Amino acid sequence: MITKPRGTEDVLPEESKLWQYIESTARCVCERFGYKEIRTPVFENTELFQRGVGDTTDVVQKEMYTFEDKGGRSLTLKPEGTATLVRSYIENSLYANPQPTKLSYIIPCFRYEKPQSGRLREFHQFGIECFGASSPATDAEVISLAYMFLKELKLTGIELNINSIGCPVCKKEYNEKLRSYFEKYKGELCPTCLERLEKNPMRIIDCKSDICSKIAKDAPKMIDYLCDECHNHFESVKERLTNMGISYTVNPDIVRGLDYYTKTVFEFVSDALGAQSTVCGGGRYSGLVEELGGKPADGIGFAAGLERLILVIKKQQEVSSVTEASPDIFIATMGDKAESFAQKLIFDLRNAGIHAEQDLCGRSLKAQMKYADKLSAKFSIVVGENELSENSANLKNMKDGEIIATALDVETLKSHLQEGK
Ligand code: ATP
Ligand code: MG
Repeated sequence: MITKPRGTEDVLPEESKLWQYIESTARCVCERFGYKEIRTPVFENTELFQRGVGDTTDVVQKEMYTFEDKGGRSLTLKPEGTATLVRSYIENSLYANPQPTKLSYIIPCFRYEKPQSGRLREFHQFGIECFGASSPATDAEVISLAYMFLKELKLTGIELNINSIGCPVCKKEYNEKLRSYFEKYKGELCPTCLERLEKNPMRIIDCKSDICSKIAKDAPKMIDYLCDECHNHFESVKERLTNMGISYTVNPDIVRGLDYYTKTVFEFVSDALGAQSTVCGGGRYSGLVEELGGKPADGIGFAAGLERLILVIKKQQEVSSVTEASPDIFIATMGDKAESFAQKLIFDLRNAGIHAEQDLCGRSLKAQMKYADKLSAKFSIVVGENELSENSANLKNMKDGEIIATALDVETLKSHLQEGK
């Protein structure tokens, strides 16, 4: 038997419902905030991620699915969404529209990681990016969108952690402080972090290895070295969140995994997950649009991992209450004439927005009713010769057994079903 590749998942029909629920919640919240969906290729030129994610990151150093196509080009399956959106923003001159440009996406991502709960090699992200606005109001809007999305999913035990990692100006002084701190532990750092010590010492704070993270605990914090502008920006973001009633914790250890962040960074974490507790992460970046060949423009965004959200929902909620998809009505039939009448009636009911079902496997009447029960149909009727000639049948509420007479037309049935809801 051929099995699925390690770190990938099949989403079976029952679980698909949960995906659709999350995706439609995401789309619905984006619409209210004015974030429009963008669809981009599954693979990109490798260089985009090397430059756009940063070559000192875990993603670029260890995790990319990179391959050469038959034309000898180096391509990479998208490990994340931001670099691609920046490319598309530049390539399609979206900066020429009135700014900001507010975009959203739901994409598969590919990272060669050690598969475990909440960590896959193919996973999915819902994310947004806002380009061309550098005000603290933008940070607050982006964070508040993520907050509302998670709230509408009715997740509990979610905490928002925020931090500021400064701008190139204040980062410079800080990086020196950080470098001299880590120099003292040169003998203990992992080989990757030794390299980072030269190129980008802040990355060490994000290292997952036990020793490095222990050493990083007492390292100087960026938040103590912010320049006036970064400090004021951060204060304003916090004030706005408080105004909107969004509570947060300032966590000086959040630096985020990707190289391009500046100023505000944030994560939403869930207490329902073990080690992989971050369900959504994001931040502001400047310099990335320029780095990828565009005119300077600020960006800010986040990405939420859909598989992790599904893990949380499954732990906290009765999944069937989220994904309830039982038929509104099951129409059982006796005889060929009734069956063919029922099919037309069911088609018309479906056309009117009602979920109606019938038997397609030639079951006896008794077996049809058993099947209706299995499907958890809310109502049922039985149509035979008599019902056809009288154009009337008994509509049974499957929950309490109550029966009322109904005419066999779409309008009457529809109004009974709505009353019974
Ligand atoms: P982590 O620290 O957990 O590795 P990250 O910083 O690499 O996360 P981001 O690049 O910020 O993650 O991606 C945003 C979100 O995508 C994460 O918060 C998480 O919910 C999800 N995610 C990231 N990597 C994976 C993965 N391998 N499998 C499933 N979900 C993932
Ligand atoms: Mg990671």
